[in-house]
Formats: sequence, structure tokens, C-alpha cells
Amino acid sequence: MDIWSKEKRSEVMAKIRSKNTEPEMMLRKALFAKGFCYRINYNKLSGKPDIVFPKYKTVIFVHGCFWHGHDNCKIAHIPKSNTEFWEHKIMINQERDKSNEMKIVSSGWKALTFWECEIPKKTIESVLESIIATLHRNIPHPYSTRIRLYEEREDNIMMVAEDIVPYGQQKQLSYQF
Ligand SMILES: [Zn+2]
Repeated sequence: MDIWSKEKRSEVMAKIRSKNTEPEMMLRKALFAKGFCYRINYNKLSGKPDIVFPKYKTVIFVHGCFWHGHDNCKIAHIPKSNTEFWEHKIMINQERDKSNEMKIVSSGWKALTFWECEIPKKTIESVLESIIATLHRNIPHPYSTRIRLYEEREDNIMMVAEDIVPYGQQKQLSYQF
């Protein structure tokens, strides 16, 4: 038996955040501190990735362990009541995740996915290392960047300065956390 009523359980589950979670914010701040600029709320790609680097055609998903069904993870524990309902809901989310990622990758972008339980402070450096390695592999040709920036302006999309900044050197950039 669940310790909560069905209604109370729904209320509790709804409070498990899926956006702007603490690990996601931690990762954003760490990336910014390294001089990387990114976009959030970028609606042009499937699944609204949490962190988007348009210049590098790379996105990051920070998946909440519960909602996205992280296997063998203690945060992803499914409630003992209404189990089928939650399992079904999470399975649908996982299928959606897969299809979003496939769409992103097939349009020539790189997608990195991290679980929220993987981004506590002690491993943030290793998470950053793998992101930075991927971004470096995806550094675009200068002319193609210029064309893309121009196209985005045409669409009246808010721009974020994205000059390459050597690591460790801060620069005044507009950004969103
Ligand atoms: Zn997890």
C-alpha cells in the first residue's frame, strides 16, 4: 500500500520537477564558468533540449531519473500504488525521448544525455569534460556559422553572443540561467 491517497500521490508526483532541476542548473553554471554560452528554451528542435549550443549543433538533455525512467536508480523508484499507471507514463516518456533524439541526430546535430543523478558535484568535472570534447569535435567552419547566425536573425530569434572564449577567461556575454 502507498502511504498516500491517490490524489495526494498525484500531487506529490507532480512536484517532481522535470525542468530547471538542481543538477541542470549546476551544469549550466559550470558551462558558463568555462566560457561557453548556450541557449535554453530553444524551440526549433524536437523535445526542447535543456541546453542547446547552436553554433556547435550540439544539445544536452538532463533527464530527471523518475520521469525518464533511469534503470536501477534510487531516485527513479516507482510508487507502490497505481504502479501500472506510472510505469505506462514513464514508458511513453522513454519512447518520446528516443524519437526526439533520433530526430535531432538525423538532422545533423549531436545529442548528449545525462541523468540528474550523474551530475552531483563530485562528477561535474567529468561531465564537463565529455561535453567540451563533443563541442570541440563539432566546431563549425567559420563561413557556415556566419550564414547560420544570419538566418537566425532573420527569424527574429534572440541571439546570444557566442564567440569562442579560451577556457578560464571570462567575458561579458549575455546569457540566461
Ligand atoms: Zn538516476
